[in-house]
Order: sequence, then structure tokens, then C-alpha cells
Amino acid sequence: MSRARTLKVVLFTGYACNNNCLFCIDADKRGLPQKTTAELLREAAAAARRGAGVLEIIGGEATIRPDFARVVAAAKKLGIPRVACATNGRVFADPAAARRIVASGIDSLIFSVHGPDAKTHDALTRAPGSFAQLKKGLANLKALGFTAVNGNTTVVRQNMAALPALARFYVRHGIRNVEYIFVDPNYGGARNAFKLLVPRISKAAPQMRRALAIGRAAGFGEWKVRYVPLCHFADRLDQVSELNERALFRTEHWAPDFTNKDASGSRAAVARRRTERCRGCRLYSVCEGLWNAYLDEYGDAELKAVK
Ligand code: SF4
Repeated sequence: MSRARTLKVVLFTGYACNNNCLFCIDADKRGLPQKTTAELLREAAAAARRGAGVLEIIGGEATIRPDFARVVAAAKKLGIPRVACATNGRVFADPAAARRIVASGIDSLIFSVHGPDAKTHDALTRAPGSFAQLKKGLANLKALGFTAVNGNTTVVRQNMAALPALARFYVRHGIRNVEYIFVDPNYGGARNAFKLLVPRISKAAPQMRRALAIGRAAGFGEWKVRYVPLCHFADRLDQVSELNERALFRTEHWAPDFTNKDASGSRAAVARRRTERCRGCRLYSVCEGLWNAYLDEYGDAELKAVK
């Protein structure tokens, strides 16, 4: 089975970023050195040699690097079928930068949008003007005819009530692939400010479900939720990222400070868990449960075995 799955390499360029998101998982890693251009080119070549079908380049914020387009172009020249980048989108507000990156041959961009308006988004990114730049970036890409833009949203206390409005934002911009990601409190910003940021899953899940429903009504049935206990989405398993990802990809993470050859497996094994309340659940074998730090802080009363 694993041979049939596509190798996806997530290439971290380093943790420098022009945003300062409250919940950032890399909040405590900003000072680590960035990878050099030579390292990135070497790693892109290694990914191609190993037959990677997808190379996802991430930071920090990878697009702020002067060598970003060069690395993408090299990866494409090496024959990697899909090269993508998760981005806060701000760099694309500059039409010349947008043009340069599109010309590099990048296949898709994943814009991180954390609210439907500047007030919500900028409060989370702690970068005034970041929402306006992201919107300008979307407009510039559209003007260039680049339509392979996806979205992702980290779900925290501060934006969960706004998820339906954010879903309408994604619909208005024609974004066909969106992930609503339940915040990871094991590391970084959400660990450091747990109570401020981490919502109860029983409060967040209904808003995430509303967002999915708005997508389906608009014909965007591909939208997904990520890092959720399945009992809150038992009727929407086709819209849970982890299930989909495990079936399609072998995911490796190549970061400056670690290499993880089985990102999905290790997340399930060491970062999330099921509890006594999961006994007898029919989804037990495919569910990863909740983040360890969540269960340590809030307990497991919101989990309910699916019969
Ligand atoms: S009860 Fe436990 S195993 Fe079942 S779906 Fe919920 S978290 Fe997963």
C-alpha cells in the first residue's frame, strides 16, 4: 500500500517570517538559522532523486527569501510534478514579486487566512496591514491568470465565530481547496498562551462544520478540516484531511532542526491520543484523537465513542 502512495516532501526553508502569528507553532524557533540557497537546491535535488511527487516549500515564510523563485524553478526543472508553497500571501501584494514567483513555475499556493476581515486577521498575525496585502496578493495573482490558490485557516478562540464569514470570503474568491486546521497546542504560540488561544473542540467543531456546509452549498465539496477528533465529524469523514492524506501520501518533513520520515505516523503516535472514552468507538482504528496538550489541559469529556 505504501508503495502506491505519493511521496510528499515538506521542505522547510527556515523559520523567519514577516508575520508574527499568536498561535504559530514555530514561535520559539525564530532565531534558528535559515537554510542556505545551496542547501535548498541540494534538498530539492534529493527530493527529485527519491521520486517525490509533491514538494511543499514552507517557512516561516518562504516567499520573503530572495532565492525563493530560484529554488522553485530548480525543483520544477528537476521534474518534480507538483511544487507548492504555504504562504501568508503578503509578498504577492507586490506585482513584480507575484509575476516572478508565477514565472518560476510554481504549481499551487496555499494562502493562510485567519479571519474574514482585517480586524480579525491582523489581530492574530500581529502584523498591521497583513490582510490588505493578502487581498492585494490574491488580486494580483488573479490578474496574472494564476488560479491554483488554496486556503488554510488556523482555528482559534479569536476566529472560530467568524468561520462562516471566512467561508464566504473563500467562496467569493473561488478558492476550491481550503483546510480549517484545529490549532496545535503542543508547541509554540498556542502552548505558550493556551487559555487565550485554544478553543474547546465542542465549541469550534460546529463553526468548522458550518464553514464546510457553506463550501458544499457553493460546490466546494473538497474543503477539509484537520487535526480533529472524528466523533465531531463522523458524518463528514470524507472532509477530514488526515484520512485523505494517509491514503494518498507518505509525508516527510525536512526542517532545519529535524527530519521526520513519517509525519502522519509520528503525529498519531506521539502528538495526539485517544482516551478511555474512545473504548468501543467504531472509528478508533482511523482516528488520531485530540492533541496531547489539549487533553492534559481540558480533559476528554468532549469525546464520545461512535457506535
Ligand atoms: S471517541 Fe475517540 S476514537 Fe472515537 S472518534 Fe472520538 S476521539 Fe476518535
